[in-house]
Amino acid sequence: MGFIELTVLNNTARQAAIGIDLGTTNSLGALWKDGRPIVLHPEGGNGYVPSAIYFGDDGSIVVGREARDRALIDPEHALFSIKRFMGRGLKDVAQDAKSVPCPLGENPNGVIEFEMRGKKYTPQELSALILLKVHDIACRTLGGHETTKVVITVPAYFDDAQRSATRDAARLAGLDVLRIVNEPTAASLAYGLDQKKQGTVAVFDLGGGTFDVSLLSIEEGVFRVLSTHGDTHLGGDDLDHLLVQAAMEDLSRTIPATTLRDRGFQQLLRLAAEKCKIELSTAPEAGMHVHLPEAALHWRRRFTREEFEQLAAPVIERAIDACRKALADAKLELTAIDEVVLVGGATRIPLVRRRVEEFFGRKPHTELNPDEVVALGAAVQAHVLTGGTRDILLMDVTPLSLGMETLGGAVAKVILRNSTIPCSATEGFTTYADNQTGIDFHVVQGERELARDCRTLGRFKLSGIPPLPAGMARVAVKFHIDANGLLTVSAKEEITGATARIEVTPMNGLTDGEVEGMLKESYVHARADFDASRLSNLKVEVGTMLRATEHGLREYKSALDKETVRDLDDSMASVRAALELSDVTALQKARDVFERATLPLAAVMMDNVAKRALTGKRLDEV
Ligand code: ADP
Ligand code: MG
Repeated sequence: MGFIELTVLNNTARQAAIGIDLGTTNSLGALWKDGRPIVLHPEGGNGYVPSAIYFGDDGSIVVGREARDRALIDPEHALFSIKRFMGRGLKDVAQDAKSVPCPLGENPNGVIEFEMRGKKYTPQELSALILLKVHDIACRTLGGHETTKVVITVPAYFDDAQRSATRDAARLAGLDVLRIVNEPTAASLAYGLDQKKQGTVAVFDLGGGTFDVSLLSIEEGVFRVLSTHGDTHLGGDDLDHLLVQAAMEDLSRTIPATTLRDRGFQQLLRLAAEKCKIELSTAPEAGMHVHLPEAALHWRRRFTREEFEQLAAPVIERAIDACRKALADAKLELTAIDEVVLVGGATRIPLVRRRVEEFFGRKPHTELNPDEVVALGAAVQAHVLTGGTRDILLMDVTPLSLGMETLGGAVAKVILRNSTIPCSATEGFTTYADNQTGIDFHVVQGERELARDCRTLGRFKLSGIPPLPAGMARVAVKFHIDANGLLTVSAKEEITGATARIEVTPMNGLTDGEVEGMLKESYVHARADFDASRLSNLKVEVGTMLRATEHGLREYKSALDKETVRDLDDSMASVRAALELSDVTALQKARDVFERATLPLAAVMMDNVAKRALTGKRLDEV
C-alpha cells in the first residue's frame, strides 16, 4: 500500500489502528496504548473470539464463543477452521473438506462456497464475520472510539491467493487494511526484536490445528523469512484427540457406538479433553469429565501430567523435526539462532517448552502470553503505520519467488523470494514465432523450476504486437508487489507501446465485481449506517492520500518517469471527481486506482527515508 508510507512520512493520519490476529482456532485484537500494545478485551472477558460460526434456523448467524457453544447441540450447522479454506480451491482442501458438516462447492472463479441452510458463503465472507466480531469487541473496549484501520496477520507460508483472500475478507467487513503482516514477524515485533541491529530469530508457533516454525533474520529493522516449515495438521487439537481416544476406549464398554460417534457427543468429549489438557499445563494432575444427564452418563477419569506427556510426546517430536528441517533449509547451525519466540496457545504446555529449550539450547521468550503475542505485534505494526514513533522502518519480504512461464514450461523468476517489499522488477520477453501478434502470459509463484509445479497466480494476454520475425519484438514485463505482498503485473511492447496488465486476482480469489456484490449483501453489514460511515472514512482517507501525494510530488516529481506522473495526475483527477459525487463504490474504485498510481512515488520516498534512517542512526552512534 503505497500511500501508507506517505502518511507515515507526513505524520498526518494519527487515527488509531487495531492489530488483528485472524487465527484458525482463535482470533484476537490489540491496540497501542500508553506506550505499549495491549489486548482489547471487555471487562471480565479475555477478548478471544473462537474462529467459529453458527447458522441458526431463523436465519441468524452467530460468531465466536456463542457459536462454539451452539455447535455442541447442533454441530451440523457450525463451521470451524475457516482459515484453512482462504484462497484455496476444492482440490487443495480435500482433507479438510471431510470435517465440514455442510456441502462444499466452488464458484466459477474457483472460490470455495459453504452451503448452509440454503445459502452459500465464501471463506472470505465467513472470515469477514469473524473480523467484524473482533473489531466490534475492540471498539466496545475502546468506548466507542471507532476506527476502521487494521493490520492483519497471516502465516509466513501464506501465498498470494491466501493473503489476497484475507484482504478481501477485511474489505467485506468494511475494514481498511493498512498491512498484512507475517505472524512470526508480528511475534518478533511484540518482543521488540526489531530493535536489535541484527540477529536470527526462531519463531515456534503451535496453535490449535496448525504448527509452523519460521527462521527470521533481522537487519536494521528489516525482517527476512529465511525459511519456514511446519505441518498444517498438527496442533493442540491433536493432543485433545489423544485424550478423547483414551476416553472412548473407556466409554465404549458402557455406551453404544452410535452415541459415541455422534458429532455432538464427539464435540462434548473434545471440549472435556481440552479442558483437562489446559489444566495439566499448570497442575500435576487433572480430571476429564463427561456428563450427559439425559443418558444418565457421568464419566470421569484422572490424568497425571506424566501420562499426558507420554501420549503427547510423539506429536511434539513432529514439531521438533520440523525445526530441524527449517534449519537445514536455511543452511543454519543451531548456534546461529539468537532468540527463540514461542507462539500459540499450545506452547503453554510444559513439555513443549522443555523440548523447545532442549532443542535450541536456549530459553525461549515466554514473557508475553503466547496466544496474544501475534495480536500484540500486529498492534505495534499498526501503531507505526499510523504515524506512531518507533524509529525503525519495518519491512517484510516476499515469502516465495514470482515469475513467468516461458516457452517449454520453464519459469523465469522475476522477483526472488526474500525480496524486501514493496518492490518492482522488470524482465524482457519476446515472441517465439514469426508474425506473432499476441503473447499469453502465465504468472506463477513458487521455487520450482517448472511452471506446472508452481502455483498459478493468473494469466493475461498482450495483443497488438506488430508482425515481426520471431524474437524481434521487445516486451517488458513489470512485476510490482505492494507492501501487503499483493502483485500487479504489466506488459508493454516497446515498439508500438501496446500494454496489458493484470492486478493479479489470484486463482481461487474473488473478482472485484464479486467483492462489490458481497459488499452490497446486507448481512455482513450489521450496522445500519455502514455505507455512510464507509463513505466518510473513505473521504477522510482519500483526502489524506491526496495531500500526501501532492506533498510528495512537490519534492520528488523529478525522480519519476513521465508515465508515472501522468498516471498520478489522471488518478488524482478521478478521485476528486468521485469525491464530488459522494458515491462509495466509485470512490472506492478511484481510490484503489489512485493507490496503485502512488506506488512508484512511495518507493522513491521510501528509498529516501531508508537512506535518511540509516544515516541518522550512524550519526547517533558516533
Ligand atoms: P490458532 O493460532 O490456531 O488460532 P491459538 O494460538 O489460540 O490457536 O491456540 C489454540 C490452542 O491452544 C488450542 O488447542 C488450545 O487448547 C491450546 N491452549 C490454550 N491454552 C492452553 C494451555 N494453557 N495449555 C495447553 N494448551 C492450551
Ligand atoms: Mg495463531
